[in-house]
Formats: sequence, structure tokens, C-alpha cells
Amino acid sequence: MTQQRDIVVIGGGIFGAAIAWALGRRGLGQRVLVLERGQPAGAATSRAAALVTVARDDPSLIALAKETFSAMAVLENEFGEDIGRHNVGALHVGSAGHGDALKARARHCASHGIASHWLDKPQALARAPWLAPESFELAAFYPDECFVEPYLLSSAYLRTAVQMGAKMRLTSDVQAIRHEDGAVTGVTLTDGTHLPASIVINAAGAWANLLSTGVGLPLPMAPVRSQYWITELATQFPRDGAIVFIPEIRAYARPELGALLFGVREQHPAVVDPRQLPQDLTGFVFDLEDADGWKNLAEGAQSLAAFFPAINTLGMAQYITGPSNYTPDGQLIIGASHAISGLFVATGCNGSGITFSGGVGRLVAELICGAPAFVAPDAFDPQRYGAFNPYAADFLASCAHARAMKSSG
Ligand SMILES: Cc1cc2nc3c(=O)[nH]c(=O)nc-3n(C[C@H](O)[C@H](O)[C@H](O)COP(=O)(O)OP(=O)(O)OC[C@H]3O[C@@H](n4cnc5c(N)ncnc54)[C@H](O)[C@@H]3O)c2cc1C
Repeated sequence: MTQQRDIVVIGGGIFGAAIAWALGRRGLGQRVLVLERGQPAGAATSRAAALVTVARDDPSLIALAKETFSAMAVLENEFGEDIGRHNVGALHVGSAGHGDALKARARHCASHGIASHWLDKPQALARAPWLAPESFELAAFYPDECFVEPYLLSSAYLRTAVQMGAKMRLTSDVQAIRHEDGAVTGVTLTDGTHLPASIVINAAGAWANLLSTGVGLPLPMAPVRSQYWITELATQFPRDGAIVFIPEIRAYARPELGALLFGVREQHPAVVDPRQLPQDLTGFVFDLEDADGWKNLAEGAQSLAAFFPAINTLGMAQYITGPSNYTPDGQLIIGASHAISGLFVATGCNGSGITFSGGVGRLVAELICGAPAFVAPDAFDPQRYGAFNPYAADFLASCAHARAMKSSG
């Protein structure tokens, strides 16, 4: 007889939730136990800008993102879940010198079945009236891109996973992953409880390394500050306006209830040793010398002002920040331990975990079931960096650098 609850998922963020969901879809729900020490989706997930976008360079990442769209459709249409989806599409704009890059991306996306078309200036401005008309020459519109309410999407995965038999256990702080003779045996909680399991999935987000290093599996990632700002309300920000990407300055924006939510990639992102990261992120400051990101904003504001002149005069209503796990090579971390059977990892979101959630859930479920993987998993191998110290200063710096270099989208 199958042992009950022998699949333990550590972490009730969107990765843990999507994994539980994908296992439920494969009929394994009764075996799944999700452990969360705080609030489900209460860490990085609820802080996300939650753009869900498939227009990317890497075909594997396109496949993962497409899977999220499939999962969202099932959640909405089969389970009747409200995920707060806004189907506004995404506009990619560029100045004259960047037209070729926009065209190349559109061609590349078309070859992967991702629709886009060119808009003339009035059409583009109708979707983003806050753009300076003279700032861009070309505008490609990707009609199927969207943003969601990340807390709702994550809750939808979890709630429906529970409907399919999974169990969620709160106030469960995992202290260690246990193994014997090369196989996982379960987890121990900080209150001393031992929960036996034959499969353990480490989806503990920015804290995943604290558990993985304990079992000799350092993960090639570090928590890097992600951040965005929300302006005050203004009539130039229609609620149904498009998501906008400005790749040449690595900026993005989307409507937020009559205001504009925007991010601009910074040259020197703040990175933190995960051992210094508190369990509760409320009030956590990544960089004491730039607690509210103003230095980073000032760095980017000059280039952003050319496209978005009102940034110089508008007030900022909110500043949101949280950790995203960046890897030096920009790839996620999804896969099995080579040394301990039954141990899996799903993290390394590189700032796009909402977008990849459906794909991550499906891939982990396929690896656990031994089913053919829908996307080649090799690039995501947790062991791809071999033996190294994930807390070393130069390694942390390489993860921060990966964020500085990340292209928008
Ligand atoms: C400011 C910001 C903007 C972002 N914008 C976007 C965006 O536009 N689009 C996009 O796709 N992504 C975006 N992201 C990234 C996205 O939020 C993350 O990729 C995603 O939330 C990662 O999910 P996760 O489940 O790995 O981590 P988390 O949501 O952090 O979940 C991990 C969970 O594990 C729990 N946990 C940790 N250790 C333990 C333990 N020992 N025992 C029990 N539980 C434990 C934590 O409490 C937490 O709930 C953004 C992130 C930030 C911060």
C-alpha cells in the first residue's frame, strides 16, 4: 500500500503551490504535504509585479512560460478560479537604434508561435499614453501577454491542489532534510517533529540554500533585491493600458489601478547572504545605504525620463521590494540531487517565478513520476556548478551581476 503523504514540498510560495498542483493533476494529490512556516505566498510571491510573459530569448524558458498560460486557463476554466488576470498585452518599444533588436525578437518569437504585430505611433500611444511620442520609433505589440494578482494565482494553485487531495500544513518550519544510505527519509521541523517522506522537494525560495547546503547540495543562486515603484494616480495611466518593455534601458511598466507600476534595471543590484535574510521580510532592508532604492532609481531615472517624462514631476505612492533568486547563468534550478535519491529542488527564479510557475510545477512532477520531460531539464540541473561556496562574496556578486544584465521581459 502506498504510504500516505510521502511527498513533502517545502515552501508554500508559488513554486511549492504549482508543484503541489501539478502533482495533483497527475493523480498524486493524496500523497502530497506542503509545509510552510509563514503565510502561503507571503514571501517573494506576494511582492511580485506579476507580469506573465512568454516573449523571451531562451526556448526552454518560452516553454516553461507557455505552460503557465495553460495552467492559468485550466485554473480559470475548469476550476473557476479568479487569478486577477489582466489581458492587456505587452508593447515592446525602442528608439531608432534599437529597431533591429525588436525585429529580431519578434521574428524569434514568431518562430516559437508567439504572436506579435507592429503598431504605428498613435496606436502605441493609445495603449501607453504616458510614453513620450518622440522617444520611440518602433512598437511591437504582443497581444497575449498579461499580468496577474500573484497572491491569487498562487492561492489558486494551492486551493485546487487541496481539492485534488494535497494537504497544507502551516507553522511548519523545516530545520533539516533527512537522508540515509543515499535516499531521502523525510524532514525535521524546528519543533523536533520528524515527518517521514520518500520524496522531498525543496521549494523554499530565498532560503532554499540554508536547507540544501546541509545535505551537500549548494545551489548556484543568491537573493538579489528586486524592486519597483508605483506612481501616484494620474489620468495618463489607463487601467487597461498595456504592459510596456523598453529593452534598451531594461525598463518595464504596467498599469496599477490608475497609477503606473514600473521598474528600471539597476547597474549595481543589492545582494544579500541568505543566512542574513529574516524569515519575515516585513521591513527588511537589503542595502542600508539605499534603503528605499532611491539611488537605484536615480541611476535609471535619467534614461527613463526620455521615454516617461512625467517621472520627473510625479510623486511615488509606493516602493515594493523583495528577494529574487538570481543565478550567474540566468537559468532556473530545477531537478534531482545526483547523490540523494528522492531529493528535488525548484528555485532560482531569476525574477520571473510567477511567469514560470506552471512550467516549473509540470517539470518537477514529470521528473518525480519518471515521465518524459516536456522541456530538456539539463540546463536547470542544480549541480551544474559542481562544488562551490554559495555564500562566498564573489559568488554573491556574480548573482547580482546577473540581475544587472537581465533583459526585460
Ligand atoms: C519586487 C519583485 C517583483 C517581481 N516581479 C515579477 C514579475 O513581474 N513576474 C514574475 O514572473 N516574477 C516576478 N518576481 C519574482 C517572483 O516573485 C518569484 O520568482 C516567485 O515568487 C518565487 O516563488 P518561490 O515559491 O520560489 O518563493 P517564495 O514566494 O519566497 O516562497 C518560498 C516559501 O518558502 C517558505 N520557506 C522558506 N524556508 C522554509 C522552511 N525552512 N520551512 C518552511 N517553509 C519555508 C517561505 O516562508 C516562503 O513562503 C518578482 C519578485 C519581486 C521581489
